[in-house]
Amino acid sequence: MNIRQIFQQHLAPTSEAPIGLHIVRASGSTLYDESGKEYLDLIGGISVCNVGHCHPKVVAAIKAQVDQYLHVMVYGETIQSPQVAYARALVARMPAPLDNVYFTNSGAEAVEGAIKLARRVTGRPRIIGAINSYHGSTTGALSLIGDEYWRQAFRPLMPGVGHYPYNSQEMIDVIDGQTACVLIETVQAEAGVVRPDIAWMQALRQRCTEQGCLLILDEIQCGFGRTGTLWGFEQMGIVPDVVLLGKALGGGMPLGAFVAAKEHMHQLASNPVLGHLTTFGGHPVCCAAGLAALQALEEEQMLTTVTEKAQLFKQLLQHPEILAVHEAGLLLAVRLRHEEKVRRTLSLALALGVFSDWFLFAPDCIRIAPPLNISNEEIAESCRRLKACLDKVSMDIGA
Ligand code: PMP
Repeated sequence: MNIRQIFQQHLAPTSEAPIGLHIVRASGSTLYDESGKEYLDLIGGISVCNVGHCHPKVVAAIKAQVDQYLHVMVYGETIQSPQVAYARALVARMPAPLDNVYFTNSGAEAVEGAIKLARRVTGRPRIIGAINSYHGSTTGALSLIGDEYWRQAFRPLMPGVGHYPYNSQEMIDVIDGQTACVLIETVQAEAGVVRPDIAWMQALRQRCTEQGCLLILDEIQCGFGRTGTLWGFEQMGIVPDVVLLGKALGGGMPLGAFVAAKEHMHQLASNPVLGHLTTFGGHPVCCAAGLAALQALEEEQMLTTVTEKAQLFKQLLQHPEILAVHEAGLLLAVRLRHEEKVRRTLSLALALGVFSDWFLFAPDCIRIAPPLNISNEEIAESCRRLKACLDKVSMDIGA
């Protein structure tokens, strides 16, 4: 059997039609397949590779840590300097009172930990989530997913969860004395890039404070510089009670975190003792990689060009097939007339050496979330190729 057949035979699939590229090397915004063909990567591992693939500083930090130690003990018991250094760097970049980091292996685990934290801190059952939100595939996170199609096959899910329209007065009005938390994305990614109104976010914050429930913001996809500031909530003039991190947090290594006030976090350590455990959460190699990625992001001033690059995409992505471009920094959704056009464009783009994807709740949109250090030339070239694909799609599919 060749590698493709073994992949099909022995790796559990997530869909009937995986992309199935065999990538053998990646660097910056370029992927290389087994035949040596190059692909401009417009999705960066789904908002993971914010500092580009295999950033030399990240690779060096990983190699240095591998020479020291790998796993030594479950999370939280021994002092592991990469965790300590990264936690310190993260909280130094968060507003008060967010001064305590719980590292996890993934985004979904950060969601799970935060749900437990909210229930532990408030002693209340109810959780409010948003329609068209995505927070992960574990059962708790799945209960919060804002789309019945993805929930229906896995019942019974976690009780006490209600879904309300994002950016709506209705969501604010349902918060009451039984609410443990509101858990939403700061910018909805899988919905096709939906930014909330700042005034709505502020009113939501105020209502959570009045009712004594926690406001948990999922920055797993929109954090780590993606929207032009290190954290998306910085643009909204509010401070959440808990911030969820993942994806780009590990610089390409598996790492998530939930960040909250020490006063809240310490409650997970008593009654019951060891109330939240993870063997590998905050793995030292992942923390070393994440810290190096954060340093690269800052030293190379990647945040300063996010808005400009996003505008360049918007300016270049003008085509009769494109109905709209929804944008939150370098998280863009390019809306076509329907799903079939997106599917065709994506497969033609792959043939032309552009790697992109769609969105879970917006299959009529093309995802653009490249490394933040993608060059202007790479942006121009990828847009040129995408438009060539759209020309072909208009001829092949019509309206
Ligand atoms: N929250 C958001 C907003 C996400 O986009 C994702 C992953 N796509 C998650 C949570 C879950 O993260 P993970 O896949 O690392 O569990």
